[in-house]
Amino acid sequence: MKAPRFAYARPASIAEAIALLDKHKDDARVLAGGQSLVPMLNFRVAAPKVLVDINRISALAGIKIAKAHVRIGALTRHAEIERSADVAKHLPLVAAAMPHIAHPAIRNRGTFGGSCALADPAAELPACALALGATFVVAGKKGERRIAAGDFFKGLYATALKPGELLVAAEFPLPRPGDTSAFGELARRHGDYAMVGVAAHGSGKSVRAAFFGVGDRPEVFEADTVDGLLSKVETDLEPRADLHASAATKLHLAKVLAGRVLKQLIA
Ligand SMILES: Cc1cc2nc3c(=O)[nH]c(=O)nc-3n(C[C@H](O)[C@H](O)[C@H](O)COP(=O)(O)OP(=O)(O)OC[C@H]3O[C@@H](n4cnc5c(N)ncnc54)[C@H](O)[C@@H]3O)c2cc1C
Repeated sequence: MKAPRFAYARPASIAEAIALLDKHKDDARVLAGGQSLVPMLNFRVAAPKVLVDINRISALAGIKIAKAHVRIGALTRHAEIERSADVAKHLPLVAAAMPHIAHPAIRNRGTFGGSCALADPAAELPACALALGATFVVAGKKGERRIAAGDFFKGLYATALKPGELLVAAEFPLPRPGDTSAFGELARRHGDYAMVGVAAHGSGKSVRAAFFGVGDRPEVFEADTVDGLLSKVETDLEPRADLHASAATKLHLAKVLAGRVLKQLIA
Protein backbone atom coordinates (compact mmCIF):
# COMPACT_ATOMS: atom_id res chain seq x y z
CA MET A 1 0.00 0.00 0.00
CA LYS A 2 1.01 3.60 -0.42
CA ALA A 3 0.78 6.38 2.12
CA PRO A 4 -2.28 8.61 2.05
CA ARG A 5 -1.70 12.13 0.66
CA PHE A 6 0.12 14.50 2.97
CA ALA A 7 1.71 17.93 2.81
CA TYR A 8 5.44 18.04 3.56
CA ALA A 9 7.47 20.72 5.32
CA ARG A 10 11.19 20.74 6.05
CA PRO A 11 11.88 23.46 8.63
CA ALA A 12 15.46 24.62 9.21
CA SER A 13 15.12 25.56 12.88
CA ILE A 14 13.42 24.42 16.07
CA ALA A 15 11.34 27.64 16.09
CA GLU A 16 10.12 26.99 12.55
CA ALA A 17 9.25 23.37 13.40
CA ILE A 18 7.29 24.43 16.49
CA ALA A 19 5.40 27.08 14.49
CA LEU A 20 4.34 24.38 12.00
CA LEU A 21 3.43 21.87 14.71
CA ASP A 22 1.46 24.51 16.59
CA LYS A 23 -0.38 25.59 13.45
CA HIS A 24 -1.41 22.06 12.47
CA LYS A 25 -1.61 20.46 15.95
CA ASP A 26 -3.12 16.92 15.71
CA ASP A 27 -3.01 17.04 11.90
CA ALA A 28 0.80 17.22 11.93
CA ARG A 29 3.36 14.50 12.61
CA VAL A 30 7.10 14.88 13.10
CA LEU A 31 9.22 12.87 10.67
CA ALA A 32 12.59 11.93 12.18
CA GLY A 33 14.31 8.73 10.99
CA GLY A 34 11.06 7.49 9.45
CA GLN A 35 11.82 3.89 10.40
CA SER A 36 8.52 3.53 12.23
CA LEU A 37 6.47 6.39 10.80
CA VAL A 38 6.97 5.55 7.11
CA PRO A 39 5.74 1.94 7.51
CA MET A 40 2.84 3.31 9.60
CA LEU A 41 1.95 5.66 6.72
CA ASN A 42 2.28 2.92 4.12
CA PHE A 43 0.10 0.57 6.13
CA ARG A 44 -2.27 3.51 6.68
CA VAL A 45 -2.08 3.09 10.44
CA ALA A 46 -1.27 6.82 10.50
CA ALA A 47 -2.65 9.45 8.15
CA PRO A 48 -1.35 12.89 9.18
CA LYS A 49 -2.21 15.80 6.89
CA VAL A 50 1.23 17.39 7.32
CA LEU A 51 4.65 15.82 7.83
CA VAL A 52 7.18 18.06 9.58
CA ASP A 53 10.59 16.69 8.60
CA ILE A 54 13.12 17.68 11.29
CA ASN A 55 16.16 16.14 9.59
CA ARG A 56 17.64 19.53 8.63
CA ILE A 57 17.60 20.89 12.20
CA SER A 58 21.17 20.35 13.33
CA ALA A 59 20.45 21.85 16.78
CA LEU A 60 18.41 18.71 17.53
CA ALA A 61 21.30 16.29 16.92
CA GLY A 62 24.34 15.32 18.91
CA ILE A 63 25.60 14.19 22.30
CA LYS A 64 26.93 16.77 24.77
CA ILE A 65 28.47 16.39 28.20
CA ALA A 66 27.44 19.11 30.65
CA LYS A 67 28.38 19.62 34.31
CA ALA A 68 25.72 17.30 35.68
CA HIS A 69 24.31 15.39 32.72
CA VAL A 70 24.76 13.86 29.30
CA ARG A 71 22.40 15.45 26.80
CA ILE A 72 21.29 13.37 23.83
CA GLY A 73 19.56 15.39 21.11
CA ALA A 74 16.31 14.00 19.75
CA LEU A 75 17.67 13.72 16.21
CA THR A 76 20.79 11.79 17.24
CA ARG A 77 20.86 8.57 15.23
CA HIS A 78 20.97 5.25 17.07
CA ALA A 79 24.25 4.47 15.27
CA GLU A 80 25.91 7.62 16.65
CA ILE A 81 24.87 6.73 20.19
CA GLU A 82 26.12 3.18 19.67
CA ARG A 83 29.55 4.42 18.59
CA SER A 84 29.88 7.28 21.07
CA ALA A 85 32.86 7.06 23.43
CA ASP A 86 31.07 9.52 25.76
CA VAL A 87 28.03 7.26 25.98
CA ALA A 88 30.23 4.21 26.57
CA LYS A 89 32.01 6.04 29.38
CA HIS A 90 29.13 7.84 31.11
CA LEU A 91 26.04 5.84 30.13
CA PRO A 92 27.16 2.21 29.87
CA LEU A 93 23.54 1.10 30.25
CA VAL A 94 22.57 2.94 27.06
CA ALA A 95 25.69 1.64 25.30
CA ALA A 96 24.73 -1.93 26.24
CA ALA A 97 21.17 -1.45 24.95
CA MET A 98 22.03 0.01 21.53
CA PRO A 99 23.06 -3.19 19.67
CA HIS A 100 19.68 -4.70 20.60
CA ILE A 101 17.73 -2.00 18.75
CA ALA A 102 16.73 -3.37 15.36
CA HIS A 103 19.49 -3.85 12.75
CA PRO A 104 22.39 -1.66 11.57
CA ALA A 105 20.47 -0.23 8.58
CA ILE A 106 17.63 0.88 10.87
CA ARG A 107 20.06 2.21 13.48
CA ASN A 108 21.71 4.35 10.79
CA ARG A 109 18.47 6.30 10.30
CA GLY A 110 16.40 5.77 13.44
CA THR A 111 16.73 8.44 16.10
CA PHE A 112 16.80 8.64 19.87
CA GLY A 113 13.84 11.05 19.90
CA GLY A 114 11.84 8.93 17.47
CA SER A 115 12.20 5.92 19.70
CA CYS A 116 11.18 7.80 22.86
CA ALA A 117 8.34 9.76 21.19
CA LEU A 118 6.96 6.56 19.67
CA ALA A 119 6.88 4.91 23.13
CA ASP A 120 6.73 1.33 21.92
CA PRO A 121 6.37 -0.68 25.15
CA ALA A 122 9.04 -3.14 23.98
CA ALA A 123 11.63 -0.49 23.09
CA GLU A 124 14.97 -0.33 24.85
CA LEU A 125 15.62 3.43 25.13
CA PRO A 126 12.51 4.38 27.14
CA ALA A 127 13.46 1.70 29.70
CA CYS A 128 17.04 3.06 29.88
CA ALA A 129 15.70 6.60 30.37
CA LEU A 130 13.53 5.37 33.25
CA ALA A 131 16.26 3.31 34.90
CA LEU A 132 18.72 6.21 34.75
CA GLY A 133 16.25 8.89 35.85
CA ALA A 134 16.56 10.95 32.66
CA THR A 135 14.65 14.16 32.01
CA PHE A 136 13.06 14.92 28.64
CA VAL A 137 13.31 18.41 27.19
CA VAL A 138 10.25 19.35 25.19
CA ALA A 139 9.61 22.57 23.27
CA GLY A 140 6.35 24.21 22.26
CA LYS A 141 4.92 27.63 21.46
CA LYS A 142 5.20 28.71 25.11
CA GLY A 143 8.86 27.67 25.40
CA GLU A 144 10.65 24.67 26.86
CA ARG A 145 9.50 22.36 29.61
CA ARG A 146 11.22 19.45 31.30
CA ILE A 147 9.48 16.14 32.01
CA ALA A 148 10.93 13.41 34.22
CA ALA A 149 11.10 10.08 32.38
CA GLY A 150 8.77 8.66 35.05
CA ASP A 151 6.07 11.10 33.90
CA PHE A 152 6.79 10.94 30.17
CA PHE A 153 5.57 7.46 29.17
CA LYS A 154 1.80 7.41 29.53
CA GLY A 155 0.79 4.13 27.93
CA LEU A 156 0.77 2.23 24.65
CA TYR A 157 2.42 4.58 22.12
CA ALA A 158 1.42 7.48 24.36
CA THR A 159 3.62 10.14 25.93
CA ALA A 160 3.24 13.42 27.79
CA LEU A 161 4.01 15.32 24.53
CA LYS A 162 1.10 17.64 23.71
CA PRO A 163 -0.08 18.44 20.19
CA GLY A 164 2.21 21.20 18.89
CA GLU A 165 5.21 20.07 20.97
CA LEU A 166 8.56 18.75 19.80
CA LEU A 167 10.85 16.44 21.75
CA VAL A 168 14.20 18.25 21.76
CA ALA A 169 16.54 16.10 23.89
CA ALA A 170 16.94 14.03 27.01
CA GLU A 171 19.31 14.76 29.87
CA PHE A 172 20.80 11.76 31.68
CA PRO A 173 22.40 12.47 35.08
CA LEU A 174 26.14 11.80 35.07
CA PRO A 175 26.89 8.66 37.07
CA ARG A 176 28.46 8.90 40.51
CA PRO A 177 31.43 6.81 41.64
CA GLY A 178 30.24 3.30 42.45
CA ASP A 179 27.16 3.42 40.20
CA THR A 180 26.64 0.25 38.20
CA SER A 181 24.25 -0.80 35.49
CA ALA A 182 23.13 -3.96 33.76
CA PHE A 183 21.05 -4.72 30.69
CA GLY A 184 19.50 -7.82 29.18
CA GLU A 185 16.71 -8.83 26.86
CA LEU A 186 15.17 -11.91 25.32
CA ALA A 187 14.07 -11.66 21.69
CA ARG A 188 13.16 -14.30 19.14
CA ARG A 189 15.98 -13.08 16.88
CA HIS A 190 18.67 -10.55 17.69
CA GLY A 191 17.35 -7.14 16.57
CA ASP A 192 13.68 -7.99 16.98
CA TYR A 193 11.68 -6.08 19.54
CA ALA A 194 12.14 -7.70 22.94
CA MET A 195 9.80 -10.38 24.25
CA VAL A 196 10.95 -9.12 27.61
CA GLY A 197 13.88 -6.98 28.69
CA VAL A 198 15.33 -5.19 31.67
CA ALA A 199 17.46 -2.07 32.07
CA ALA A 200 18.83 -1.64 35.58
CA HIS A 201 20.89 0.91 37.43
CA GLY A 202 22.33 0.82 40.93
CA SER A 203 23.68 3.72 42.95
CA GLY A 204 24.96 3.74 46.52
CA LYS A 205 21.53 3.81 48.14
CA SER A 206 19.11 2.36 45.65
CA VAL A 207 18.66 0.06 42.70
CA ARG A 208 16.12 0.59 39.96
CA ALA A 209 15.03 -1.74 37.17
CA ALA A 210 12.79 -0.92 34.20
CA PHE A 211 11.22 -3.97 32.54
CA PHE A 212 10.10 -3.57 28.92
CA GLY A 213 7.95 -5.77 26.70
CA VAL A 214 5.78 -6.55 29.73
CA GLY A 215 2.80 -4.20 29.44
CA ASP A 216 1.63 -1.00 27.78
CA ARG A 217 4.74 0.84 29.02
CA PRO A 218 7.95 -0.05 30.88
CA GLU A 219 7.35 -1.12 34.49
CA VAL A 220 9.77 0.30 37.06
CA PHE A 221 10.84 -1.32 40.34
CA GLU A 222 12.97 0.32 42.99
CA ALA A 223 14.54 -0.98 46.22
CA ASP A 224 17.47 -0.41 48.57
CA THR A 225 19.24 -3.61 47.59
CA VAL A 226 19.40 -6.06 44.69
CA ASP A 227 17.82 -8.78 46.85
CA GLY A 228 15.00 -6.39 47.78
CA LEU A 229 14.51 -5.60 44.10
CA LEU A 230 14.41 -9.27 43.13
CA SER A 231 11.79 -10.04 45.75
CA LYS A 232 9.63 -7.10 44.56
CA VAL A 233 9.89 -8.40 41.01
CA GLU A 234 8.98 -11.90 42.24
CA THR A 235 5.76 -10.68 43.86
CA ASP A 236 4.69 -7.60 41.87
CA LEU A 237 5.65 -8.02 38.22
CA GLU A 238 2.53 -8.72 36.18
CA PRO A 239 3.33 -8.93 32.46
CA ARG A 240 0.50 -8.93 29.95
CA ALA A 241 0.10 -11.47 27.18
CA ASP A 242 0.98 -10.19 23.71
CA LEU A 243 1.72 -11.52 20.22
CA HIS A 244 4.87 -13.21 21.50
CA ALA A 245 3.67 -15.19 24.49
CA SER A 246 1.12 -15.73 27.24
CA ALA A 247 1.31 -13.72 30.46
CA ALA A 248 2.60 -16.79 32.32
CA THR A 249 5.41 -17.37 29.84
CA LYS A 250 6.38 -13.71 29.97
CA LEU A 251 6.42 -13.76 33.76
CA HIS A 252 8.68 -16.81 33.72
CA LEU A 253 11.04 -15.20 31.18
CA ALA A 254 11.10 -11.91 33.08
CA LYS A 255 12.01 -13.63 36.34
CA VAL A 256 14.76 -15.68 34.70
CA LEU A 257 16.12 -12.52 33.07
CA ALA A 258 15.89 -10.55 36.32
CA GLY A 259 17.85 -13.26 38.11
CA ARG A 260 20.58 -13.15 35.46
CA VAL A 261 20.81 -9.42 34.96
CA LEU A 262 20.15 -7.81 38.33
CA LYS A 263 22.85 -9.85 40.06
CA GLN A 264 25.37 -8.00 37.85
CA LEU A 265 24.59 -4.83 39.80
CA ILE A 266 26.32 -6.27 42.84
CA ALA A 267 29.69 -6.65 41.13
C1 LIG B 1 12.33 -4.05 11.44
C2 LIG B 1 12.40 -3.06 12.59
C3 LIG B 1 12.83 -3.50 13.82
C4 LIG B 1 12.88 -2.61 14.89
N1 LIG B 1 13.32 -3.05 16.10
C5 LIG B 1 13.38 -2.20 17.14
C6 LIG B 1 13.83 -2.63 18.41
O1 LIG B 1 14.20 -3.79 18.62
N2 LIG B 1 13.83 -1.72 19.42
C7 LIG B 1 13.43 -0.41 19.23
O2 LIG B 1 13.46 0.38 20.18
N3 LIG B 1 13.03 0.02 18.03
C8 LIG B 1 13.00 -0.83 16.98
N4 LIG B 1 12.57 -0.37 15.77
C9 LIG B 1 12.16 1.04 15.63
C10 LIG B 1 13.37 1.93 15.37
O3 LIG B 1 14.17 2.02 16.53
C11 LIG B 1 12.89 3.33 15.00
O4 LIG B 1 13.97 4.01 14.52
C12 LIG B 1 12.30 4.18 16.13
O5 LIG B 1 11.27 3.57 16.78
C13 LIG B 1 11.69 5.45 15.62
O6 LIG B 1 12.70 6.30 15.34
P1 LIG B 1 12.64 7.18 14.02
O7 LIG B 1 13.66 8.22 14.19
O8 LIG B 1 12.72 6.29 12.83
O9 LIG B 1 11.20 7.89 14.15
P2 LIG B 1 10.05 8.11 13.10
O10 LIG B 1 9.64 6.82 12.48
O11 LIG B 1 10.41 9.23 12.18
O12 LIG B 1 8.92 8.63 14.10
C14 LIG B 1 8.33 7.76 15.05
C15 LIG B 1 7.28 8.55 15.85
O13 LIG B 1 7.90 9.48 16.71
C16 LIG B 1 7.48 10.82 16.40
N5 LIG B 1 8.66 11.67 16.56
C17 LIG B 1 9.89 11.42 16.06
N6 LIG B 1 10.77 12.35 16.48
C18 LIG B 1 10.06 13.22 17.26
C19 LIG B 1 10.41 14.39 17.98
N7 LIG B 1 11.66 14.85 18.00
N8 LIG B 1 9.44 15.03 18.67
C20 LIG B 1 8.17 14.56 18.66
N9 LIG B 1 7.78 13.44 18.00
C21 LIG B 1 8.72 12.79 17.30
C22 LIG B 1 6.94 10.74 14.98
O14 LIG B 1 6.01 11.75 14.72
C23 LIG B 1 6.33 9.36 14.97
O15 LIG B 1 5.06 9.38 15.58
C24 LIG B 1 12.50 -1.23 14.69
C25 LIG B 1 12.08 -0.79 13.44
C26 LIG B 1 12.02 -1.68 12.39
C27 LIG B 1 11.56 -1.17 11.05
